[in-house]
Amino acid sequence: MQRKIIHCDADCFYAAVEMRSRPELREQPLAIGAASGRGVVTTCNYPARAYGIRSAMPMAEARQRCPQLIILPTNMTTYQSVSRDMQAIFHRFSPLVEPLSLDEAFLDVTKTTQFQGSATLIAQEIRRLVALELGITISAGVAPNKFLAKIASDWQKPDGLCVIRPDQVEAFLLPLPVAKLHGVGKVTAAKLHDLGIHTCSDLRQWSCAALMERFGRHGQRLYELSWGQDERPVVVSRPRKSMSVERTFSHNLPGRGACHERLPALAEELHQRLGRKSLDGSTPFAKLFVKLRFADFSTHTREAGWQQAGLPGEADFAPLLDYLYAEQEQRGVRLLGLGVRLSEPVRPAGQQLSLFNDQQQPLNHLRQRQPGDNADDQSNHSASHHIGGVVQSQDHPAGHDAEGEGQQD
Ligand SMILES: [Mg+2]
Repeated sequence: MQRKIIHCDADCFYAAVEMRSRPELREQPLAIGAASGRGVVTTCNYPARAYGIRSAMPMAEARQRCPQLIILPTNMTTYQSVSRDMQAIFHRFSPLVEPLSLDEAFLDVTKTTQFQGSATLIAQEIRRLVALELGITISAGVAPNKFLAKIASDWQKPDGLCVIRPDQVEAFLLPLPVAKLHGVGKVTAAKLHDLGIHTCSDLRQWSCAALMERFGRHGQRLYELSWGQDERPVVVSRPRKSMSVERTFSHNLPGRGACHERLPALAEELHQRLGRKSLDGSTPFAKLFVKLRFADFSTHTREAGWQQAGLPGEADFAPLLDYLYAEQEQRGVRLLGLGVRLSEPVRPAGQQLSLFNDQQQPLNHLRQRQPGDNADDQSNHSASHHIGGVVQSQDHPAGHDAEGEGQQD
C-alpha cells in the first residue's frame, strides 16, 4: 500500500510563540536565547534571518550583525505547552504521530479517512487549525515516505505546504542536492562533492557496492535514498496519558457564565470520546482538568485528583473552571477544554528520550539527531505546585486525545 506521510514543522517556533503574545515584535529582528555570556541563538524570526542570523549562532555574533536585535530568554514551559497542543491537533488525524522535537513531527495518514483520505487536504487542515487555535504557523510536507516529507516541509517555508505525489518523486529527486538527504551532514556532503556527486542523479551513477566501499553501511542508505526508498515507519512510542476535548470559539466567550454554559456539551463530547476508546471510568481516572485560553493566548490549566469510579460530569469540572476564573472575571475566552488524566506516568527504564525536559534547554536543538542517537532520558516536571489538593499550573496543557503526551507531566 502506498504510504502517505506528512511532516509538520513549526516556523521559527520559539520566536513565533513570543511574537503571538507581543505582535509588535513581528516586524523587528528577534532572537530567543541567553543574551549574556556564551549564549547562542536558539531560534530567530525572519527579520533577524535577513541579517544572516541563524540558529546556533553565538549571541555575540548575532548582535554584531544586528545591533538592534531584540533578545528574549527561552520560556520552555510555554513552548512545551504549545507543543503539546500542537501534537494534540496532529492526533485528531492519525494515531501514528512521531514527534521529532518540540515543533516537529511525522504523521502517517495512510489509513486516515477524513477528507477522503487526501493527505494534501489533511495537511492543509492541520495548518489551518494550528494557526487558528495556537496562533502560529507551521509548514508541512506530504510525500510517500519520511525523508521526502521532511525535505518537502522545508521547501515552501515559512507557512507553506509542499506535496510530492508518488508520480512526482522522480522529478523531485533527480536534481536534489545530496546535502538535502537524510543523514548527510557537512562531512559526508564534502566527501560526496569530492567524488563529483552533487545531486541524486549523480549518486545514481554509483552502485550500492561502490558506495558501501567508500561510506560503509551509510553507503547503502545513500543508495536507497537516491532511488527514493525509505521504508522507515512512523514510530509511536509513548503511551496515552490523557484524553480531552476542547473548543476554540470564533467569538471569544465574554466571561465565566458563558463558559459554564458550554460545560455540559463539552462533558458529553468527552464521554463519547472516552466511550470510543472503551474508557468508562470503571478504573478511576487519576485527575480531571479544565483548560482556558484567554484572548491574549495565555493558557491556564487547573487539575484535581479524582478517585471516583464512573464518568465525571459538568458539575465535577465546574469548580476547576471557577478556580481558573477567580481573578480573571472580565477576560474573554477563546478556548475552553476539559479532560481526564488516565493515570500517573509510568516510564520503563531505557525508554526513549523525553522531548520535554526541565533543564530549560531544548533537547537536540543544536545538533542533528542521528539514527540510534538516544540522549539520556530526562525526567520532567513542569512548573506546577499543589494548592490544597489541587494542582495549579500555568500553561500546563492537555492534549486533545493526547496519546503523544507520554512521559510528560
Ligand atoms: Mg521548526
